[in-house]
Amino acid sequence: MVYNNILETVGNTPIVRLNSITKDIKATVYAKVETFNPGHSIKDRMALQMIEDAEKEGLLKPGGTIIEGTSGNTGMGLAMAAIIKGYKCIFVIPDKQSKEKIDALKAFGAEVVVTPTAVEPEDPRSYYSVSTRLAKEVEGAWKPNQYDNLSNSKAHYKTTGPEIWEQTEGKITHLVVGVGTGGTISGTGKYLKEKNPNIKIWGIDSYGSLFKTYHETGEIRDEDIYPYVTEGIGEDFVPKNVNFDIIDHFEKVTDRDAAIYTKEIVKQEGIWVGNSAGAAIGGLLQMKDKLKEDDVVVVIFHDHGTRYVGKFFNDDWMRKMGYFKTTDLKASHLVEGKGMQVTVSVEHDTPVAKVIELMEEHDISQLPVKKGDEFIGSIDQLGLLNEIVRDKKLKEKEIGTICRGPYPIIPWDMPIEEISTIFTKIYRAVLTRDMLGDYHMITKIDVLEALAK
Ligand code: PMP
Repeated sequence: MVYNNILETVGNTPIVRLNSITKDIKATVYAKVETFNPGHSIKDRMALQMIEDAEKEGLLKPGGTIIEGTSGNTGMGLAMAAIIKGYKCIFVIPDKQSKEKIDALKAFGAEVVVTPTAVEPEDPRSYYSVSTRLAKEVEGAWKPNQYDNLSNSKAHYKTTGPEIWEQTEGKITHLVVGVGTGGTISGTGKYLKEKNPNIKIWGIDSYGSLFKTYHETGEIRDEDIYPYVTEGIGEDFVPKNVNFDIIDHFEKVTDRDAAIYTKEIVKQEGIWVGNSAGAAIGGLLQMKDKLKEDDVVVVIFHDHGTRYVGKFFNDDWMRKMGYFKTTDLKASHLVEGKGMQVTVSVEHDTPVAKVIELMEEHDISQLPVKKGDEFIGSIDQLGLLNEIVRDKKLKEKEIGTICRGPYPIIPWDMPIEEISTIFTKIYRAVLTRDMLGDYHMITKIDVLEALAK
């Protein structure tokens, strides 16, 4: 079978059983892997639907400009459709989004305007305000408004819902979905509940978003709303696309858990997904005790990991955010965290006075002593000074004659919990050798700091 253009390949994504990350869950868990869409996210479905509905209603005319406040994935779907259908695109995007997402939109020929995240929606700098203003000013402009445009949930009612029903042969008992505009959960959930009203629809929300409280109390509470890191889900206002009546429960997931599970899905299942998939799996695991053996859960994996390589798939970023599981931290991470500094060492025949000078110059308190390629000893500043106080003549001696034994050399991939057991009263540092053969020192303080995070 051949397709006439890329838009015909939107939808009909596979459902894949999860086998490892869900091992503590009694039920069967499937992922609807929406990364298979041509724009690598579920948003291709609704982007196309919104454009085609606008064309039919005469809102979008030939050669027109699509202007949207989008977090990236909808933009990608719109930009792709715009190329095939001959429209221009301007996207207004909050600055907390990955740089990769922004660059990808530009690659599709779109103009991207970046706006600050930490302002109220009513603020003239907010991405809602800026996109609304541009829609008024640019000629032939059409603003899809993915939040309130019901073509969004309609796309999922027409495609995502029926696909899941057929792919699970009507056996689905629970749908788990990260909620942003609400289009995915509302359209898919409505279709599935019409087929079987007993299917439970669970929405995944972020801390910092209003959905859960609003669903449970009908109230918008200021204290629920604050900036957060998780991408793609949660909101600080109520989009028309969220149909709260078909949602049975909202589960909140922390930024840290969403980040950790995003990485774990890739590691354990080999499926490269984005941040909201991590949030969905984190939320599902929090709810696992509500599931029975014969339940069939479908979790939506909204988008692809490529868009997060600078963040969740970047160890430095994860460490800076404090999202590393300490059990995952290895010697290599500690060394990378300190900028891969190669350890300073001294030759065994260096005079003690010179060694003291060197330590002061480099502001280091302990270092290894070498004889050629071999580490033969170690020295620490305090010990050395104490010795000199006792014996002034020591300064002229060779360091090799007075140093302590060498530091233990540990493997590059030794977990930090294990490293922490190696230090003794005498050896408060260890050495490790990187893949290029350079040696790096890890001190007790480095390990304590990492464990305390
Ligand atoms: N995950 C990602 C990565 C998204 O981009 C979005 C859309 N904001 C969602 C989840 C939530 O989907 P929906 O807008 O259909 O609720």
